[in-house]
This record gives sequence, C-alpha cells and structure tokens, in this order.
Amino acid sequence: MRTPLVAGNWKLHKGPTDGRRLALEIRNGLLGRRLAAEVVVCPPFPTLAAVLEIVRGTAVVVGAQNVFWEKSGAWTGEVAADMLRDAGCEWVIIGHSERRQHFGEQDATVARRVRAALDAGLKVMACVGETLAEREANRTREVVEGQLRHGLAGLTAEDWARTAIAYEPVWAIGTGRNATPDQAQDVHAFLRGVLAGMTSVRVADETRIQYGGSVKADNAVALLGQPDVDGALVGGASLEAAAFLAIVDAATTAS
Ligand code: PEP
Repeated sequence: MRTPLVAGNWKLHKGPTDGRRLALEIRNGLLGRRLAAEVVVCPPFPTLAAVLEIVRGTAVVVGAQNVFWEKSGAWTGEVAADMLRDAGCEWVIIGHSERRQHFGEQDATVARRVRAALDAGLKVMACVGETLAEREANRTREVVEGQLRHGLAGLTAEDWARTAIAYEPVWAIGTGRNATPDQAQDVHAFLRGVLAGMTSVRVADETRIQYGGSVKADNAVALLGQPDVDGALVGGASLEAAAFLAIVDAATTAS
C-alpha cells in the first residue's frame, strides 16, 4: 500500500511574506479534512525558514527544489544537503526538467545530487520525463528508462524507501496540457517494471511514482486514480491553496 505523495513545487514564486501566507492557508485548510496523503511544499530557498515555522508540527512537510552535491567549500551560490536538513527540510526535488533545460542538469549530476541528499538524511523526488519531440518520435520509454537507470543507479533498498520518482512529461509542464490518465498509467507501469529489474519487485511495489504536468483540481481524480500513479508533483496549481488542497483531496479519494 503506497501512501500518495502530493508535493507543491513553488518554483520561483513566493518570497517569505507571500510564502508564509500560502503555507498558513494550506495548513489551516488541512485542519479537519480527511487526509490520506503525504503533503509536501517546496518553496524557493529564501522562503524555507518562513514556511518551516508555519507548518512545524502539522501534516505538511517542507522540501527544497534543488541541492548541490558538495558539503561545503568555495561553491558560490550553492546549497548543501546537510544545510537543508539542518534547516528542517525533509525532501528535495532533483532533476526537474527546468533544471535539465535551463541549467545543464544531466543524469550524472542528478546521480551526484541524489547520493548527497540521501546521505544527508533527506528524501528525494527524482524527476524524469520526455520532451514532445521525444514522445512524437516514440522514444518516451527509452528516455525515461535512461534517466532512471543513470540518475538513480546504485541505490540500496534503504535508499529507495526515501526516494520517489516523479514522471513529468516536459510537454505537460506549465502548458495546461496534461498527459491523459492512460498515458500516465502506461509510463508509470513501465517505470515500475524497470525499477523492479534494477532493484526487486518488492522495492518497485513500495516506491511511489508521482505524476507531474498540469495537474489541476479537475483532472487530479482521474490521474491519481490510476493504479500506478501515487500522487502528484504540482507546479502552477500549488500556488493557490484551494487548488492545491483539492488535489490533496483527490489523492485521498484515490488512495
Ligand atoms: C512542475 O513544476 O513540476 C509542474 C508539474 O508544473 P505544472 O503543474 O505547472 O505543470
């Protein structure tokens, strides 16, 4: 039984003042609700402390949107995994397609970040997903398998217990065009099969695979109702408490 994982990726939105307000709305909105999902919010770095203070002791936990692999040193602008853990973060998103597209992220650097995050005691949401051109060229499976095998190579069963995969087709991120439930289920089941081959059937059965890409209140029930879709990584709709909470509700309904 996999508990759905619903995470809000705030991207480059919400400084401390706005982030505190949004976190408060989410926190208060969850009070008195039936909740059968794990809820994570991932603000930008300067907003982490404000949000951590608001959600401390509640069902909402906090993640960062990236992490560097070195522990300390002359790495201007970078943030270490131990620092995120020390700040109170539980999760970190790694390998988001926006990092791959705009900041040169590759499977090899994903692998280094994942190792550093897990070694520091963080939990990881590792993103994979194909571009539109790759989907149209029927390369979806090959692409996501490569990202999984190379970005998440060598993880132990204990590491996998703290790792979720986020399948995020690039053509569906921030476009308003989501994968259909069948398309998502097809890739999720495929990824679970690849994972079983890399690890074991038990690990594959227990690992959560989130879907991300224009998840909204009105498509969440159908997407999250798929047998291999174990929650959502939500961008745009996580910036508004009511929309995000509706997706959390959909995950609870689907569980
Ligand atoms: C994301 O940022 O991971 C994402 C899926 O964004 P959106 O929900 O806006 O498509």
